Amino acid sequence: MSKFEELFDEFKDKAKTVYGTASKMTGEAVEMGKVRYQIKQTQWEIEKTYAKIGGMVYESKKGGENMDDIIALAIAEVDAYNEKLEELEKRLRSYKRVDKCPSCGKENDVDFSFCSRCGTVLEREEAQQSEEAGAGEEE
Ligand SMILES: [Zn+2]
Repeated sequence: MSKFEELFDEFKDKAKTVYGTASKMTGEAVEMGKVRYQIKQTQWEIEKTYAKIGGMVYESKKGGENMDDIIALAIAEVDAYNEKLEELEKRLRSYKRVDKCPSCGKENDVDFSFCSRCGTVLEREEAQQSEEAGAGEEE
C-alpha cells in the first residue's frame, strides 16, 4: 500500500466518523462536510497527478522517449481538477458558516460574538479571511 493510499484510508475513516454524527448536525452542516470531503479528494487527485507527471518526465528524460502527449493529458487533468476545486470552494463559501462554542458545543452563526446558549465569547480564526479579488476577471 502506498503512502497515499494509507493516508486516504485514514481520511476515509475520519470521514465516516463525521458522517456518523451527521444526524445531530443541520442539513447545511452536512452539505458543508460533503463539500469539504470532495475538496480533500480533489486535492489528493491533483497531488497524485503531479506525482504521475513527475514520473513521466523522469522516464522521458532518462529513456529519451517522447511522452509529451501523455504529459499534456495529465496537465489537462490537473487543470480540470483545479477547476473543480475552485467550484467546490465557491460552493463551500456560499454556505452559512457556523462556529462551535468551545464551552457548550452549540453551533452559532459566525456573525455572533457570544454563544447564543451559554454566552461564552467566540474566538475567530483570522486566517480564514481570504478576500475574493477579481471575481469577474477574465484571462
Ligand atoms: Zn456555549
